Amino acid sequence: MDFSRRNLFATAGIAGATALSTYSQTALAETTSKSPFKVPATRIPIFGTSDVFPVRRIYCIGRNYEAHAREMGSDPTREPPFFFQKPTDAIQFVPIDQTVNHPYPPLTKNYHHEIELVAVLSKGGRDIPAEKALEYVYGYAIGLDMTRRDLQRAMGDQKKPWEIGKSFDHSAPIGPVHRADKIGHIKQGAIWLKVNGVIRQEANLSQMIWSVAEQISQLSAAFEMMPGDIIYSGTPENVGPVVVGDTLEGHIDGLPNITLKIV
Ligand code: MN
Repeated sequence: MDFSRRNLFATAGIAGATALSTYSQTALAETTSKSPFKVPATRIPIFGTSDVFPVRRIYCIGRNYEAHAREMGSDPTREPPFFFQKPTDAIQFVPIDQTVNHPYPPLTKNYHHEIELVAVLSKGGRDIPAEKALEYVYGYAIGLDMTRRDLQRAMGDQKKPWEIGKSFDHSAPIGPVHRADKIGHIKQGAIWLKVNGVIRQEANLSQMIWSVAEQISQLSAAFEMMPGDIIYSGTPENVGPVVVGDTLEGHIDGLPNITLKIV
């Protein structure tokens, strides 16, 4: 065999070309079916049914209520929306009428609550106009965008990705999905969070800077939206720290409350 540098490059080139043409979506699915071990899929129970909502991607919008944008140090009137993602397995399902233990994560000394309305999609597309965007929404859930604020800020200050502050295990607690064809589309109403029985965050969903429909439209200009995508639609002002032993109760008008204990 000729192990000259030139020949190695040629071989690599052929292997690369073969891989590109073989690994279609179908081929990937077939490969997955032969996996030597199982990876759990993320699913959220659909309220009042035995069905589950399969989660594909978690999108989150930043600074979507004016007062919260100001407390984070930005001017909401001048900024287009921005988004980040959490890994799908960051979901922690919180059944109603149960207090779920939520683990205090490592590395942080300033762990923050962010109560948010979550919209879940059952249709996909690109460049979706805002006027049609709610047709893509299957339903809604109440969620928390839990945040290691100290890590988020430190990375932001260094102009590095803030992923470690936002996208970690259990960072996306969520209640059951409520179908829009049963409860309608949620555009206004109270959203609040209590810690140990005391109101910490309280606002009206109508105070969002970018509506759920506008968020879907904006996201779909950057990404192809797909069934199973879910969107954390932003948190109101007065985010703040929780510590081990705290009980968090979240509320959105029209949805059952969720309760978590930090352990
Ligand atoms: Mn958030």
